[in-house]
Amino acid sequence: MSAIRASFSVDPTSDSLMAIRFERELQEAAETRQQQLEGLTSAEADEVTRAQREALNQVLLEISAARQRLAEGTFGSCTGCALSIPVERLEIRPWSATCVSCARR
Ligand SMILES: [Zn+2]
Repeated sequence: MSAIRASFSVDPTSDSLMAIRFERELQEAAETRQQQLEGLTSAEADEVTRAQREALNQVLLEISAARQRLAEGTFGSCTGCALSIPVERLEIRPWSATCVSCARR
């Protein structure tokens, strides 16, 4: 990650810095997948393409839910057990809604 450009003033707590950072990452992740999705639309509707499209749409839904949680201030809490999701997990997959043990359930 390069430096975060904050064009508006924020409460300089680590929580809001984390929120800005993940908001940007989620936005970039959504844009990337949106582009991939657009690249697929002209392709033949074969099974592989359909599966790719479904997977991309699924992640886009999860990203949009994660941005909703960011807006509501619940981002980073597991939707299963309400414990904090480890930052390492969020760095790999910022749209994670659950901690590892809830994801395994
Ligand atoms: Zn959990």
